[in-house]
Amino acid sequence: MNEFDFIESLRSQANSRKHSTRVLTGIGDDASIISQSPGRDLIVTTDLLIEGVDFHRNATPGALLGHKALAVSLSDVAAMGARPFWSFLAIGLSREEWSTTFKDEFYEGFFALADHFGVTLAGGDISESRQGIIIDSIVLGEVASGAAVKRSTARPGDQIYVTGTLGGAAAGLKLIELGARVSEPGAVATGPSERTDDDAIQTLLVRQLRPQPRVGWGIVLGEQQLASAMIDLSDGLSSDLNHLCKESNVGAVIDAAAIPLDEDVRHLCGRRALDPLALALHGGEDFELLFTVAPENVTRLPKKVDGAAICRIGEITDQMGSVKITEQNHVWDLRPGGFEHFPS
Ligand code: ADP
Ligand code: MG
Repeated sequence: MNEFDFIESLRSQANSRKHSTRVLTGIGDDASIISQSPGRDLIVTTDLLIEGVDFHRNATPGALLGHKALAVSLSDVAAMGARPFWSFLAIGLSREEWSTTFKDEFYEGFFALADHFGVTLAGGDISESRQGIIIDSIVLGEVASGAAVKRSTARPGDQIYVTGTLGGAAAGLKLIELGARVSEPGAVATGPSERTDDDAIQTLLVRQLRPQPRVGWGIVLGEQQLASAMIDLSDGLSSDLNHLCKESNVGAVIDAAAIPLDEDVRHLCGRRALDPLALALHGGEDFELLFTVAPENVTRLPKKVDGAAICRIGEITDQMGSVKITEQNHVWDLRPGGFEHFPS
């Protein structure tokens, strides 16, 4: 199959779905045409995934990489309080990889997640790569004009929340580095009684390789104007909370005991000299949402959205630049310890 046959197959897969009637021209022309809608702001995000840096090829089945490439961008759109609509995905592949089933598996995983949230593949690009797989994922979404939730608008006294649980993705990455690999999907037992260590390992690998973006929470928090500021947890709680505080010119104090640790991290890592709290604080890629809520809005928060709960972990203070964590009777500075591409 050559490049143009493959683009044709993506075009027919995208067109058969019809999620967005607002894509006037999608795949097949020099550029895409999307009709604008009055009273709404456009949200645009882009994410690069580079083999050997952002993922390990030999630990990442194609379908999971296709899922993750879209998931990371959906998470950014959710963190703006917006609803995702359109995806543009550019991919660079080696000649060897082009002739395997990788690209078909990749788009299988991509389209499964896109269908779940009604996102349309509206364009992209393909190139040969001489340095392994390179993916650029772009997602466009919308929010009511002026309603996007930024990092810079938290106020002293606002309560700090996170969705879901933390530390699972970082533990999954450690397991991959130790040689663990995902087995066939569906092989993980779910009943609490019959769960083994292997099931816990598989669940953590899936947390790393197949993150669930909190699209539903993002839409609820944005549309109902519940969050005063928001960021997604891609680098790690310590780093991302510091980013939010810096942008908002505020400080924060969080409670170690309130941080929702992933159950499997607690179970497996606690016994293996890996501190579950450190993984939850500094491990990245959980793709949960970290958001702040003005005190008067706290009672309006739903308990769950799409099965995901939230936890209140602390409060915004007027101590500009001071991010603290309380643990029993101690108070520590919570320095950013999350992932950086180019640490100084
Ligand atoms: P150009 O040389 O102008 O980049 P292409 O042949 O690469 O033209 O692209 C033609 C059309 O195919 C465009 O609409 C583009 O968005 C689409 N396209 C190319 N690659 C992909 C891809 N990986 N996924 C989706 N659409 C793609
Ligand atoms: Mg092209």
